[in-house]
Amino acid sequence: MKVLLVAEYREKELLESTYELATFADKLGAEKVWFAAGYNDNLPKVAGKLYLADANKYGEYNPDVHKNLILQVVEKENPDYVVFVHSSYGWDLAPRVAASLKIGQVSEIVDVVDGTFVVPACNAKLRRFVKPATGKGVLTIQAGAFQPAEPNGEPEVEELTLDTADSALGFVGYEEAEAKSVDLTKAEIIVSAGRGVGKPDNIPVIEELAKALGGELGASRPVVDAGWVDHSRQVGTTGQTVAPKLYVACGISGAIQHLAGMKKSEFVLAINTDKDAPIGEVADVLVVADVMQFVPALTEKIKSM
Ligand code: FAD
Repeated sequence: MKVLLVAEYREKELLESTYELATFADKLGAEKVWFAAGYNDNLPKVAGKLYLADANKYGEYNPDVHKNLILQVVEKENPDYVVFVHSSYGWDLAPRVAASLKIGQVSEIVDVVDGTFVVPACNAKLRRFVKPATGKGVLTIQAGAFQPAEPNGEPEVEELTLDTADSALGFVGYEEAEAKSVDLTKAEIIVSAGRGVGKPDNIPVIEELAKALGGELGASRPVVDAGWVDHSRQVGTTGQTVAPKLYVACGISGAIQHLAGMKKSEFVLAINTDKDAPIGEVADVLVVADVMQFVPALTEKIKSM
């Protein structure tokens, strides 16, 4: 089996997520071929063939042009799968490539089991096991789902050119997201509320513990989606990636998208009624208790010290 892995650049920097593609391919047991619309002086440090389109000429992003470049590589290499990271680049370009090749697409893969792709369903409560019915396919992998491989190879580069790089579409520029009202990445202590907190009225109880510890309030995505806590406090793949000295997870199950945002914490204390909750796998201490009983008692204790 052969996969074509699509590297990604942002303002001349190679994105770290590119190396997650390599881990994915290894898990699939596939031969790797690379495509990058990138820069000769900043290539992915990967072994194997790399088809390089000069980003100075073809841009870091242009959907038409990059699609045509990738189709050129597909014709040469005939890969079983073309694989992107599920980023704004990947989720725009992958369907264009799939439609041109008339093959199926599987999006947001979080795991591979016996050559079958695992994708979340129902807000990641369920997992679906899927394979493109077309045999060959275009895939996107969820950022953070696969550990980045060590950048330790030297690619064998082949430069790509297009006869015409004309496109009705033009790249305008990158626009920074609105400044986050809270920068959790700098917090040394974070106390996060999950769905297990039960209702919005209980959020101040979690906030109180954060305050008593001199830390910041964080939250899992369902809590943010429900409007209980502002999005600027969300931890995870679609929130902030944090690395505090202490992370307290209150009523958080430990879904992969949440873990991706907090697994670099130095010490993790989790409070959960379920002793088998996946958060237990990354927690240094798992307290099996009702969060609304344990947290107020802990806050009182800290305040009295
Ligand atoms: P649940 O999974 O519902 O877990 C609640 C936990 O609370 C359970 O373990 C339960 O045992 C426990 N509990 C229940 N009652 C109590 C109680 N009284 N006391 C103590 N414990 C109790 N999620 C994120 O967090 N961040 C992200 O950035 C993120 N991005 C995502 C991106 C995508 C593309 C997708 C598909 C999903 C994303 N998710 C993200 C969602 C993620 O998959 C999970 O659904 C989410 O993390 C679950 O949040 P939770 O742990 O708060 O809720």
